[in-house]
Amino acid sequence: MKAQRLVIVSNRLPITAHIEGDQVTFSQASGGLATGLRGFHERMGGMWIGWPGLMPRLSKSQRAVVDQQLTKWGIVPLHLTRQEIREYYEEFSNGVLWPIFHYLLDRVPTGPTAWDSYRRVNERFAKLVAERHQPGDIIWVHDYQLLLVPGMLRQLLPQARIGFFLHIPFPATEVFRVLPWRREILESLLGADLVGFHTYSYMQHFAAAIADLTELEPEDGRVWLDDREVRFGVFPMGIDAQKFHDLATSPAVEEELRAIRADAGDRTILLGVDRLDYTKGLPRRVLALEALLQANPELRDHIRLIQVAVPSRDEVPSYQEFRREIEGLIGRINGTYGTVTSVPIHYLHQSISAERLVALYRAAEVMLVTPLRDGMNLVAKEYVASRIDDDGVLVLSEFAGAGDELHEAVFVNAYDVADLTAKIREALALPPGERRSRMQAMRRRAMGQDVHRWANDFIRALESDPGEKRLATPAAALKDALGRMRAASTVALLLDYDGTLVPIAATPDQAMPDKELLNLIDALANRPRTRV
Ligand code: UDP
Repeated sequence: MKAQRLVIVSNRLPITAHIEGDQVTFSQASGGLATGLRGFHERMGGMWIGWPGLMPRLSKSQRAVVDQQLTKWGIVPLHLTRQEIREYYEEFSNGVLWPIFHYLLDRVPTGPTAWDSYRRVNERFAKLVAERHQPGDIIWVHDYQLLLVPGMLRQLLPQARIGFFLHIPFPATEVFRVLPWRREILESLLGADLVGFHTYSYMQHFAAAIADLTELEPEDGRVWLDDREVRFGVFPMGIDAQKFHDLATSPAVEEELRAIRADAGDRTILLGVDRLDYTKGLPRRVLALEALLQANPELRDHIRLIQVAVPSRDEVPSYQEFRREIEGLIGRINGTYGTVTSVPIHYLHQSISAERLVALYRAAEVMLVTPLRDGMNLVAKEYVASRIDDDGVLVLSEFAGAGDELHEAVFVNAYDVADLTAKIREALALPPGERRSRMQAMRRRAMGQDVHRWANDFIRALESDPGEKRLATPAAALKDALGRMRAASTVALLLDYDGTLVPIAATPDQAMPDKELLNLIDALANRPRTRV
């Protein structure tokens, strides 16, 4: 039997091409998606379709060399023009979808949006997938940049098996409805056979949006279309936990850790690691630190927040404005509470190496993960996986998907500066025994539910028995049940009452069976070999 191929479709590829002069070099992306799927990609001998980055300066022949190299790795590049990137990626995906799906409606620009461009680029993705498709392939489409691809693919490939995973939250329907293209987006997602989310509540929101905005009635993690079933599922994404565990014990990290600790002296280290993004809750986090230093003078020069802010989306205007805001705040706090030898906030607007990152995780007594909204947040899991000493306290926003698994964190309402201040204080005072028991419990989960398991679970669910499931429309299920009743030697019938035999009524005494129903139940009870 021919092995099944996995076709992965995502905006970015697991490989980035770098161009210097005439030289093209490649580096592997380290993000969760790339790590989690690389193994499957190699084993299942499929394809990864995505954008390799801007290559405007390459000649045609150079680009052919790049494409040839990518092809060897099973990668099919979809080259986007500068204008497409600006409109589809920056203006629409990051400018409109990102803030709405993270409940930050005031970040949505009021001007015209690049919806048409978004649709066109999604179409380019779908067409390329269809061109390369072979019968039996399973297709896995990723994330908010490609919301229209499942529906377009269903048109082009009615029989294909298609999965979609959303890496960001699916917002409550009252927020989702704000999108002028809400129906088109929902209908497209229903082009998939399986739609995956990080948490149960995102999945519930999606089901509620379908019930609210379409004629369909989702129930029990699925919805029936005329001819097929679409399933929804919860697949919380993990990290490459083993990698973090191994790094944490490496000599390079030990050395870096010693340097960080030596420089901090006896100060307690608090750590934040985020892309510089307005969803990550940075202003309130530093305001909480300011409030703490103001209220507790004994803490001044005894705590140090190291805040890594990884540069991100600097082409998008709201990000430029946000950077000015956060840097102004940090300047103010450092100006007020700094000394000639030290400042309370060490702010790094830069990417750091994996070794430095893990050394920081190991050095930090308190990790602050306080996004206003975050689909999952992998940093929280990486911190936990790196704590080979079972020590350290995670302060975690209630609004991060990671909270569904890391129950032993100190939870905080990231919108509430007073609560943030109180929770930082609580974290600083947590006794060693309690730190250890909480961290051990979180580590067990982060190490077990890793990214490989996430990918495996999704692919297995997507592969599972679609042929049979596809027949299982309500009519087909009834036919199947009748066939089995006729063939059985005895039959026990368990009948639900409210909502099944009689319609749901306002009060229980109104839910009365009528004559026809009573006759029907009589007839069933009088059937031979049948108990009702
Ligand atoms: N990270 C990085 N460069 C750095 C620091 C961190 O790429 O200089 C990584 C970090 O290890 C984590 C990811 O960026 O894996 C951030 O993922 P998360 O889910 O926390 O947030 P996102 O950026 O996806 O919103």
